[in-house]
Formats: sequence, C-alpha cells, structure tokens
Amino acid sequence: MLEIAPSVTNHQIGDVIIEMRKVEKSYGSYKVLRGINLSVSRGERIVICGPSGSGKSTLIRCLNQLEEHQAGEIIIDGTPMSAGARGIDSIRREVGMVFQSFNLFPHLTVLENCTLAPIRVRGISKAEAEATARTILKRVHIPEQAQKYPIQLSGGQQQRVAIARSLCMSPKIMLFDEPTSALDPEMVNEVLDVMVELAESGMTMLVVTHEMGFASKVADRVIFMDAGEIVEVAPPTEFFNAPQSQRTKKFLGQVL
Ligand code: ADP
Ligand code: MG
Repeated sequence: MLEIAPSVTNHQIGDVIIEMRKVEKSYGSYKVLRGINLSVSRGERIVICGPSGSGKSTLIRCLNQLEEHQAGEIIIDGTPMSAGARGIDSIRREVGMVFQSFNLFPHLTVLENCTLAPIRVRGISKAEAEATARTILKRVHIPEQAQKYPIQLSGGQQQRVAIARSLCMSPKIMLFDEPTSALDPEMVNEVLDVMVELAESGMTMLVVTHEMGFASKVADRVIFMDAGEIVEVAPPTEFFNAPQSQRTKKFLGQVL
C-alpha cells in the first residue's frame, strides 16, 4: 500500500499559465487526443499517468509544439500556440522538456550542453552562460562533471545534466516525459530528488511518470489518461485513496 505523504511544501499557486481547450490530435485517421481540457496554474505540479498508448507523451509534446494539435486551443502564458511561428519559438524557450532518453549532445561536454542554447538562442555571453551553468550543475549535484562528455556519466547523472540544460534557459514551465523510465533502479532516486527540489523551488511542472511515490509527495493534482482522454483529475490523497472511475481503479491496481 502506498503511503500518502503530505505535499513537500506549502507553495504559492498563481494565475493560469497553461490552458488547453478541447484539444484534439490525430495521426492519420487515428485520434490520439480526444478533446483535452486542462488548466494549469503557475507553480502547480501535475503528474500524468495512464496506460501505454493513452496519449500522455502526445499531450505534453503538444504543449511545446513538438507536435501540432489539429483542433482546440492551447494558450501558454497568454500566447495562443496557433499564433505565428515567432510566438511558438518564444514559447519553446519558456518551456523546458526532459525526455526518457536524455537526448544530450554526445560530442559536447556537460558544460557545453548547458551553454549552447543560452548562447545561441538567448544571446547570452559565453562567460555568463558558463557561470549560470555551473550554478545550476551545483543545484543538480554534479558540479564536478562539467568537463566530462555524456558517455562518461551514469544514466542518472546524464538525466540530471538534461534537467540542468533545460534549467539554463530559465524556463517558466518544465515538462518531463517518463524521466526515470530508462534508468537502472538504483539511479531513479537521484533524479527524483532533483525533481522534488525543483518542485520546492516553485517551478510549474508537468510530469509523466508511474513513480506514484513521487506523485503522492509532490503533485498538486494527478491526472489519469486513457485512450486519449483525461479520465480523472484529483489531488493525490483522493486519487490514490478514493479513485472514482473504474479505469483508474484498474490502472492503480496494476501499478501500486
Ligand atoms: P503514451 O505516451 O501514453 O504511451 P503516446 O502519446 O506516445 O502515448 O501515443 C499515443 C498513441 O499515438 C499510440 O497509439 C501511439 O502508437 C500513437 N502515436 C504516437 N506517436 C505517433 C506518430 N508519430 N505516428 C503515428 N502514431 C503515433
Ligand atoms: Mg509516452
């Protein structure tokens, strides 16, 4: 039985930063998102779970326009995502994303991975970008790895570099797509601990994960998706102790 710990800190929840209204997405004739409605407030932490193929990755990829939705509205920090390309580019800078498979640049050092986008995209000087990167590498507890290449690091360290690299762009929102699924079990916690610290710092976070301990500790709301729909949304205590839908109950029976 999962122990439901109280939320990590009391924190401020602000105005709406993400608004999805009736969002639909298909691949060919196959509808992957079937009318998603979701409103996320600044500072909120959302955990998204659900069976494989339910549309979790597609949902968060639509949020930074790695995928384009075909119907409905997505508004991020006041900017509609259907606006011209410039609007979308600026939103992408504000929305960090961490993938299951790290996606670091193998030919660049840790420090270079962290400074590339701030220098190229934000136009920050190399010295300033490096100073920021070193501060953030400390925050994810790997300051001593700055000159190494990704291949020289463990999976847990690589994923912390990926988180640091995103944070170097000073995002307003962080999206995580199963960030610990590719890790050996003994490395899961070192990544989750960094994510808990990030949550405590007040970052708006949407995290696709089946780490239900993390969800119960950190999430303000847990979302359960199935077959392209949001089936249930509730604070963790309700979600785990009194799920409403049969589909949620069945899923929880499998993962807990
Ligand atoms: P989840 O992350 O919940 O496992 P996904 O969002 O990855 O689900 O996928 C939802 C559905 O969309 C799955 O049936 C998957 O096969 C399909 N799908 C995902 N990406 C593509 C794609 N690029 N082309 C065609 N089908 C896709
Ligand atoms: Mg997925």
